[in-house]
Amino acid sequence: MNIERDLAPILKYGLRKNEPLARYTSWKVGGPADYFVSPADLEELVQVILYSNRHDLPLYILGNGTNLLVLDGGIRGLVVHIGSAFSYVNTCAGKLEVGAGTSMYQLSKTAAEAGLRGLEFAVGIPGSLGGALIMNAGAFGGYIGELVESIELVDYQGEAVTLTRDQLSFSYRTSNLVGRGVIVEAQLEMEHGDPAELFKTMHYYSEERRRRHPSLPSAGSVFRNLPDKPAGRIIDEAGGKGMRIGGAEVSGEHANFIVNTGSATAADILFLMEAVKKLVKEKTGLDLQPEVRIVGEES
Ligand SMILES: Cc1cc2nc3c(=O)[nH]c(=O)nc-3n(C[C@H](O)[C@H](O)[C@H](O)COP(=O)(O)OP(=O)(O)OC[C@H]3O[C@@H](n4cnc5c(N)ncnc54)[C@H](O)[C@@H]3O)c2cc1C
Repeated sequence: MNIERDLAPILKYGLRKNEPLARYTSWKVGGPADYFVSPADLEELVQVILYSNRHDLPLYILGNGTNLLVLDGGIRGLVVHIGSAFSYVNTCAGKLEVGAGTSMYQLSKTAAEAGLRGLEFAVGIPGSLGGALIMNAGAFGGYIGELVESIELVDYQGEAVTLTRDQLSFSYRTSNLVGRGVIVEAQLEMEHGDPAELFKTMHYYSEERRRRHPSLPSAGSVFRNLPDKPAGRIIDEAGGKGMRIGGAEVSGEHANFIVNTGSATAADILFLMEAVKKLVKEKTGLDLQPEVRIVGEES
C-alpha cells in the first residue's frame, strides 16, 4: 500500500499526513491522524472507503469534533472529515433533505426561514447533522431522532444504504447508526410554523445557553445524565466545581462541563474525568458514564 501515491491524486482537497486533530475538536486537544481527508463529494468518499477496506486501513469519521476527546497520541489510520462539501439543506413539501456536514445552527436557521418547525432546539448545538444523528443530539426537550424519516449512508464496504424510520432507533444520546458507516444525508419530516415565532424561540434558547454554559473550549456535557438527576447537579453537590488537572478545569458555571483553560492536554481532561468519577462514586455511590466519545491513543 502506498496511500500517498494511490489516494492523494484522486482527492480534490488532497491527503494530509500527521494532521493535528486539535484543530478539529472543540476541546482544542488531540494528537495527529496518520492520514486525514475531507472528501469533496460522494464519489470521493466511496473511493476512500473502498481503499481503506481493501488495505485494512482503520477509518475514523469526524464531524465537527464537538463530542470527542481525541487522545494525545492521535488516531491511527485514516480520519475522514465530513465537512462543508456535505453541507446543504433542500426544502420540499414540508420535508428537509440535509447533508451530513451541515451545521445544526445552519439547519435550524434554514428550517425556521422556511417556516418549518421542530429544529429550534438545535440552534446552539455546535455539531454537524451526521454527529447529531449518531449521538441523537437534543436539548430543551427536543432531539434529532424524532424528526428523521430516512437516512442515506455509505457502509464500510462502500455500498450506498438507505435506512427508513422503521429501521432506525434513537435513545438518550445514542442511536443504532453507530458502526453502520458514513452518514451522508438525512430526510427530516417537519411541521409548519410561523418563522417569527420560531426565531423567537431560537433566540430564547440561545440566550439560555449563553447564560448557563461556559465560553471556554469544551465538548458540552461530559457525563450522561442519570434518569432522575442531571450529572451537573450530582457533580456540583459532590463538590466537583473548580477541580483542576493541568489546564483542564471543571467549570464553575456548569459542573458537567470540563473546560480547556488554554494549555490542557487530552491526558489532563481524561485524568480530570476519572477524578470527577471517583469523587462522585465516593460521595454518592453513583457511577457516572461519559457522554463524550474517547478516541485514539494515549501518548
Ligand atoms: C458548547 C457545547 C454545547 C453542546 N450542547 C449539546 C446539547 O445541547 N445537546 C447535545 O446533544 N449535544 C451537545 N453538545 C455535544 C455535540 O455538539 C453533539 O453531540 C453533536 O451532535 C456532535 O456532532 P459533531 O458533528 O461534532 O460530531 P463529532 O464530535 O465529530 O462525532 C461524534 C460521533 O459521531 C460520529 N460521526 C460524526 N459524523 C458522522 C457521519 N457523517 N457519519 C457517521 N458517523 C459520524 C463520530 O465518529 C463520533 O462517533 C455540545 C457540545 C459543545 C461543545
